[in-house]
Amino acid sequence: MQNPEFIVRFWGVRGSIAAPGPSTARYGGNTSCVEVRCGGKLFIFDGGSGLRLLGNALKQSGEAHDFDLFFTHTHLDHCHGLPFFAPCYDPRNRIRIWAGHLRPDHEIAAVLGKMMSPPLFPIPLDIFTAKLEFNDFDAGDSLPTYTGMRLLTEPLNHPNRATGYRLECDGKALVYVTDTEHEPGQLDRNVLRLAERADAMIYDSTYTDEEYPAHRNWGHSTWQEGVRLADAARVKTLVLFHHDPEHDDAFMDRVAAEAERVRPGTLVAREGMVLTL
Ligand SMILES: [Zn+2]
Ligand SMILES: [Zn+2]
Repeated sequence: MQNPEFIVRFWGVRGSIAAPGPSTARYGGNTSCVEVRCGGKLFIFDGGSGLRLLGNALKQSGEAHDFDLFFTHTHLDHCHGLPFFAPCYDPRNRIRIWAGHLRPDHEIAAVLGKMMSPPLFPIPLDIFTAKLEFNDFDAGDSLPTYTGMRLLTEPLNHPNRATGYRLECDGKALVYVTDTEHEPGQLDRNVLRLAERADAMIYDSTYTDEEYPAHRNWGHSTWQEGVRLADAARVKTLVLFHHDPEHDDAFMDRVAAEAERVRPGTLVAREGMVLTL
C-alpha cells in the first residue's frame, strides 16, 4: 500500500437542512459530506452543502483529481452541494458518481439533472467540464474498487430508499450509515452486517430515544440506537452524525457527554473533525 493512512474528514455533519448560525457554529451547519483518504485514494460520501468546502480545498491544491463520490441517496441535503463543487468545472478531473437506491425506476444522472434544471436551478448538469461517470447499482452489491480494498453496500430503511457503505482498506474498515430508521427493539440486520468489527461507524443520530416516538416513519434513527448497534457489532469507534437542525451546540454538548458516559470513546461529528483509523 502506497500510503497507509486511513483518514476521515467531516465537511458537513447536519441532517435535513443546513443550519448555519451562532448557535450551531461549533458542531457546524453544513449538510452531509465526508471525505475519506485511504491507500492514497480519495473517496467522498454524500454531496450536501459541505461538498462545496471540500471542493474548494481540492481546487486549491492545483492538482488534477480522480475520485469516487458515493451518494447514500438523493434527498436534497445529500446532493445539493454538487452544483457548487469546484472539481466538476475542471476538465482535468475524473469523477465517478455512484448511487444504489434508484434502480430500476430512476438513474442517478437523470435525477441530478432534474435537480439542476430550470426553474429550480439556472444551469444544467452538462455545464460540468470534468469527466463524469455515472454508476447506478443495487444496494447490497459489492462495488468494484482498488486492489487491496473492499467496498460493500446494504439497503437502509429510509423513504425513497438509501444505501449504507463499508469501505475496507489495509485491514481497517469504515462504515457510513445515514439516513436510516430503526425498528425499536430490533437491531437492523443490514446495518449489523456492514458494521461487524468495523474500526469506525458513522451513524444517523438525528434524534434521541426520547424524541424518536414523535418522529416515527421520518426515516431517521437515534444516537442510542447507534450505541446498541455498535455494541452488538463490536464497532471500535461510533461517530454520531446527521444532527437535527434544531439541535444547537448546547444540546449537542449534552449528547456528547451522555454518549461518552454510555459508550466511552463515542464521537459526535463536527465540521472540520478529522478521524484517523
Ligand atoms: Zn439526510
Ligand atoms: Zn434522506
